[in-house]
Amino acid sequence: MAASKRKIIIDDTTLRDGEQSAGVVFSLEEKLKIAQELDALGIPELETGIPSMGEAERESIRALASLKLDARLLVWSRMHESDLKACSDLGIDMVDLSIPVSDQQITYKLGKDRRHVISSIMRLVPMALDMGLEVCVGAEDASRADQTFLLKLADACQKAGAKRFRFADTLGIMEPFGMLEQMRCLRTSVDIDLEMHAHDDLGLATANSLAAALGGATHINTTVNGLGERAGNAPLEEVVVGLEQLYGFSVDVSLKQITKVSRCVERASGRRLSRQKSLVGKDVFTHEAGIHVDGMLKDKRNYQGVDPGLVGRQHRFVVGKHSGRKSLIEAYGRLGIILEPEQATWLIEKVRDKVARTKRSPGKAELKALYHELCHDKSPVIRRILHEHAL
Ligand SMILES: [Zn+2]
Repeated sequence: MAASKRKIIIDDTTLRDGEQSAGVVFSLEEKLKIAQELDALGIPELETGIPSMGEAERESIRALASLKLDARLLVWSRMHESDLKACSDLGIDMVDLSIPVSDQQITYKLGKDRRHVISSIMRLVPMALDMGLEVCVGAEDASRADQTFLLKLADACQKAGAKRFRFADTLGIMEPFGMLEQMRCLRTSVDIDLEMHAHDDLGLATANSLAAALGGATHINTTVNGLGERAGNAPLEEVVVGLEQLYGFSVDVSLKQITKVSRCVERASGRRLSRQKSLVGKDVFTHEAGIHVDGMLKDKRNYQGVDPGLVGRQHRFVVGKHSGRKSLIEAYGRLGIILEPEQATWLIEKVRDKVARTKRSPGKAELKALYHELCHDKSPVIRRILHEHAL
């Protein structure tokens, strides 16, 4: 894919859609901390909450606004007059006015028709503008909307004065090739900003977000760790690295401290992160297999797909069932213990036994204990090995 220097703006919704995960509630203190940490990464936009939920939510949004972050602040609102009124006097920049756009939801959720959707946009967008807010229109369930109607809607948003149109794959049912086409159609139809809001029900939120960017989206919604309803949203860390590394987009976000932010969101949400979660999981830069470790010790590029330095991390080598002698010698070398090849052969068996019992890599103290056992255990087996190898 040809490199593109076009800029993509990240609109992170950890504080709104992330918190919408079942059972997740952030305290005000946690919200403020997460917002400050995201701002420190250089995230340009933060979606902060849903004002119509009540005064406590509105107070937390005001508190976020009082931080005077560099990030621009958005709120989410249904396209209802009363909900919109709750967005006044919060110190925020923009409102995402959301309305269902698929016939399924228009008919069976709203009990209305397509004309109602268009007329709501024409009425509510100017109202929000009069309140001094910029407007993004959120097209809920856009994935199932009639294509021609969706284009008509986007056009109505532009005519009504909206600055942005958000394609919400509310159910997480898009796939990247279709997404690319959808976004291309929108891009050629309207001149306003286009945003992608992806969910991960089929494991495609990142792929769909990248496809949307390729198709002409200017903004991408993300959440830290992919936190969000059901299977979650497009993970911030994956989207940023994907946009930059795979397609050469300019994102202007530094992920050096993303691990810290990731752990902060993990704690605040109570959602444990998989050790194998791409880019931020504990084990994703950890290497055990003998062939890989040997290859990396010769030249790390042999097995490095993503530079861990991008996310402020380093490669980590551990020993385990798949370690070879070289990696074991290297691991003990880091502990200041120089192993003879025969000692390594004996220790490999011991390490494998231990891993089979504990189902994890041995730590430094355990490796030292095994070495100590090798040197001092006078069992017949050890004596035979020591004798055979004249240790
Ligand atoms: Zn969502």
